[in-house]
Amino acid sequence: MDFLKSKNLKMEEKKYFMREAIRLSIDSMRAGNGGPFGAVIVKNGKIIARGFNKVTSTNDPTAHAEVVAIREACTELGSFQLEGCEIYTSCEPCPMCLGAIYWARPDKMYRTYPYCGLFICYSYIGSSKNEL
Ligand SMILES: [Zn+2]
Repeated sequence: MDFLKSKNLKMEEKKYFMREAIRLSIDSMRAGNGGPFGAVIVKNGKIIARGFNKVTSTNDPTAHAEVVAIREACTELGSFQLEGCEIYTSCEPCPMCLGAIYWARPDKMYRTYPYCGLFICYSYIGSSKNEL
């Protein structure tokens, strides 16, 4: 029973972090910062970086939510790699962001999965394993 309880708590944490990424996407779009995309990076159960799309407000075509969050997390950690981190994105990352995520090397990436109506779906970087 304790295992199930802790597993459910972990899922609630994941939902919380994903909701935060989605909230960022909505709030930043309404504020006129850019497209409706948000991302958070988590380490040891805490959000260490937040990002949202700033392409149109900064005239920076690379200012996607994931890249913004990765830059902030790397600054926070003083490292170019995100060892022990998880990234939550409000959408499927574009090829540029997938490249940035690959090079930043977080332990896991979670993204929404809109086509099947599931709230959350995640993939392990570097493997074909998916879990719901
Ligand atoms: Zn992108």
